[in-house]
Formats: sequence, C-alpha cells, structure tokens
Amino acid sequence: MKAAIVGAGVGGLTTAAHLAKMGVDVDVYDMGAFAGGKMYKYTNNEGLTWDTGPTLISLPDQIKKTFSELNLNPPELLTLNEGSHLLFADGTDWHLPIGKDSLISYFKKKDYLLSQQLNTSLKIAKSIFEFADNFIFNEEPPTVLSLGLKSMASGVVFQHPKTMLRVYSQVIDSLFTNNNMREFFYHFASYIGVQPSVAPGAILSIAHVELGSDIVFPKGGIYSIAKSLYDAAIKYNANFSYQTKVTKAIPLGNEFKNRGWQLYFQRDKHEETKKYDILISNGDPYVASQNWIESEFINKLLNNKLTNKLLRPSESQFVILFDWKDHTEISHHTKIFPKSWNQSFYEVGVELKIPEDPCIYLVWPHATDKNISPRILFISAMAPNLASGHSWDEKSSLIYTNKILDICRKRINLSFNGEVFKTISPLELHERTQSLMGGIYSATSAQFRPMSFHFSGESKVESLFFVGAGIHPGAGVTMVMKSSERIIKRIQKKYKLG
Ligand SMILES: Cc1cc2nc3c(=O)[nH]c(=O)nc-3n(C[C@H](O)[C@H](O)[C@H](O)COP(=O)(O)OP(=O)(O)OC[C@H]3O[C@@H](n4cnc5c(N)ncnc54)[C@H](O)[C@@H]3O)c2cc1C
Repeated sequence: MKAAIVGAGVGGLTTAAHLAKMGVDVDVYDMGAFAGGKMYKYTNNEGLTWDTGPTLISLPDQIKKTFSELNLNPPELLTLNEGSHLLFADGTDWHLPIGKDSLISYFKKKDYLLSQQLNTSLKIAKSIFEFADNFIFNEEPPTVLSLGLKSMASGVVFQHPKTMLRVYSQVIDSLFTNNNMREFFYHFASYIGVQPSVAPGAILSIAHVELGSDIVFPKGGIYSIAKSLYDAAIKYNANFSYQTKVTKAIPLGNEFKNRGWQLYFQRDKHEETKKYDILISNGDPYVASQNWIESEFINKLLNNKLTNKLLRPSESQFVILFDWKDHTEISHHTKIFPKSWNQSFYEVGVELKIPEDPCIYLVWPHATDKNISPRILFISAMAPNLASGHSWDEKSSLIYTNKILDICRKRINLSFNGEVFKTISPLELHERTQSLMGGIYSATSAQFRPMSFHFSGESKVESLFFVGAGIHPGAGVTMVMKSSERIIKRIQKKYKLG
C-alpha cells in the first residue's frame, strides 16, 4: 500500500514512522527545508541553534509510549528543576515548582487560603482532564449527544456542574480570590484563542496539563523530538521530500468511494504527480481543504464551521530569537504578566491590534541543559492574527521587538544586551507551516462543546485521513502524537495492516 503524508510536523512524522514500520510505502511531503513543522530550529553563522515553536513539553509519558511502540528509545528527557517564574504587574513574583503537591506546599507557606483554592482547582482540572482522556482524546470526536451522554455517565457534570456548565471567567472568579492567581488561570484561555468570558469552563483541564503533569525538556533541545521521530521514520524506510508544496489532491473516482488519490506537488518549480492508495494530511485541515484537497464534502464541512464561528483560529504569537550576549542566570520559563491579562488579550484577539501591554514569555533552556549555549533566549509575546491585516514588515516588527525588549528590561531588571537573531511573525509562521491565520495551534471552539465540534481525523471521504493539532482538542506536542496514534489504529484496522 502506498501512503502520501502531506506535512512533516510532529503529527506527520509520528504517522510516517508507525505506518512505515507496518510495511506501508510512505512518502512524506513538506514545504519546509527539513522536518518538524511548527517544531523548528534556526542556526546562525556561528552554529548557535535556537529552537522555535513549542517550549513546554507536558505529558511526557506519551513520548515514551510513542517511542516504545516504535521499538526505539525516546530522546533523553530532562526534568526541569522549576516550573515557571511568574512576574505580575503589582510586583508579585512566584517561582512555581513542578507537580501538584510541591505547588500546594509552595503556596501553603505564602497564603494558606490560596493553597486550598489551588488544591480544589487542580483536583477539578484533573478530573475533567481524565474524563477527556478516557472519552475523547483517544477516540474520534464524539457527537454532541454522545458527549452529553458520556459526561453524564462518567459523572463529571454532576461532580463539577459549576465548572462544566459555566464560562471560564466565572469558574476562575469563583475558585480564586487572589487576583494574580486569577490572571494566571485566565491566561490558559489563550490556548484556545478565546476570551475567558466566552471560553467553556471545561478548559480548566489545561491547568492539570501545565501544573499537575511533569514538564520535561529533551536533552539537546526541543527539536530533538522531531529529529528522533524523523530518524524513526527513516529507519523504517519512509521517504521525505522537502521544499515540496502539495498543490492538489484529486480522488480517483467518487470522493466517497475512490480508488486512491492523484497527488500534485511542486518541487524546484516543477509540477509532478503521483498516485497513492491513501492520503494523510498533517497540515491545518482548514487551510488544506481550501488550498489543495479537492473534496466538496470536506470543504463545505470545514467552511461552515469557520463561517458560523463554531471554530476560531487559536492564539498567535510574535517570536524573537535573541542572542543574549550579556546573559545572566534566569529561570527556564519566565512569564511577564501585563496589568490586566484580559484587557491585553481582548486587544489582540477581538480588536486585532498590537496590545498596549503584552504578556511576554521568555525561555532560557540553559537553565536546564548546560550543553545549550546561555546565549540562546527565546522570547514570545501576544500578537494579532492574520485577520488583523497587520503587515509585519521590517519596520513594524522592529517596533514591536523594541517594545517587548523594553518591557523585559524594566520588569526583569536586566540589561538584555545582545542581538536579535531572528523574529517570527504570525504571517511568517503561516507562510512556512500553513497555520490557520498564523495561529500557533489550530482552530479551536469558542463553544461549550469544543470536543464535539472538533473535526474528525477519519473523514467520511474514502482513504483520506487527518492528523495533528488541527484535529485534536489537546493540540500541544504530546497531544499531536496522540492524534497520530488514534488515526494509525483506524488505518491499521481498516486496511488490516500488521
Ligand atoms: C510559537 C509556538 C509556541 C508553541 N508552544 C507550545 C508549547 O509550549 N507546548 C506544546 O505542546 N505545543 C506548543 N506549540 C504547538 C505545537 O508546536 C504544535 O501543536 C505542533 O508542533 C503541531 O504539529 P502538527 O504535526 O500538528 O503540525 P505542524 O507542525 O503545523 O506541521 C504541518 C506541516 O505540514 C506542512 N504543510 C502544510 N501544507 C502543506 C502542503 N500543501 N504541502 C507541503 N507541506 C505542507 C507544513 O509546512 C508543516 O511543516 C507551539 C507552537 C508555536 C508556533
């Protein structure tokens, strides 16, 4: 059997390795210069390499599981000695330890009531996460009806009605009295790209992933996850074509009953074509359906979801890869909160403009892995998506870069002398990875039923499958791996693969 995988992101790589191991003849096409998709890296002329894209790897058991199923060793995962360093506008400074128990003890020493509130919140977050993991993350997205029945049967709605049936900001305001903790928890809404006042309360489960799970750093840098998956796919004989853009895929016969796909792609300015038995799309399904998959059914289905605002693009970010020449010790993860996270997020997400006071995130991997140069600093800040029409030309990128660095200097009280090696705007991310509106995840739902509105990875169209962040409600790196496993199981069953 011949399979085409369009996209060598974490989802495409995981799928390629598994299918190739089962003996499928796999060709992977990617527009980028090498594998990784949003998990990417840039190297300067001195050989210093910056990871870009994901920075915080949670749920590491999934990485171990994926590699064990591939009969390979996972990349070495280092445990971080600290979670995040949070800096709030009122001068409050928290160094969060990793893991629920340590976190509760940390706050017990500061504020007993807050530690109790956090304990309650993380218990609820865990139980919602476990519900999603049992009933949603490993399966096809359920229908609204089956999701309702499953949540009733599992008891999650009865146990936590105030969380499951209210909007996220109400949930947070009722759980916490401390303003900074509220700010911190509101910011989890950025993952789904909607205001806390409209986001479903169930996204509290994100707190379990970020605060209740282990956070790891792959030795040598985040890109070593993509590299290890790529090596696995190569070991099992998958083929890769880079700087190759797939321009069209036409079903051979009726889209619901086809005999495979005719794939058209552009490489070195030449158009080429090849026939495949199955087609797997790893890029954003919405962009793919608009740009290259010739399926009226998929196109209509996804367009309806977007135009009816059942789905929206996720948050976007502006990234600065900074060569920190006068580096000094900081935490691995530092988050600088604005005066009002809600206000800043409103300016970016609703008014679609550069925020007055952005939330800024700094990642200094040397804190965990001494083999990574201390000059490597990754900085990202809230940024409006492509709907804003922002040009992200050299001048506007420079203005925003200077604003971000000035805030870092003031709030962390360090000089931050060095050079900007590269900036990555939402527009550039979109152009390189075809992300929807330049979002860092994929489309997410603003409704109470986010899981059920997610697009199924096994489409009704014959021999067409989707993997990756665009089809999985979790959307982070380890969830993307889960999405591949979900689809591989289906392909394996359907085509009776070994
Ligand atoms: C700035 C940033 C920060 C992030 N932070 C985190 C984090 O801390 N933790 C976390 O878990 N996740 C994070 N993420 C999200 C995470 O990186 C993504 O969810 C994940 O990498 C997506 O993988 P994927 O396989 O779904 O798709 P992608 O990585 O998007 O890969 C899709 C690939 O398909 C290719 N493609 C698309 N269309 C075509 C075509 N027509 N022809 C050829 N190739 C095509 C693209 O070029 C791309 O390489 C972050 C992302 C960004 C950008």
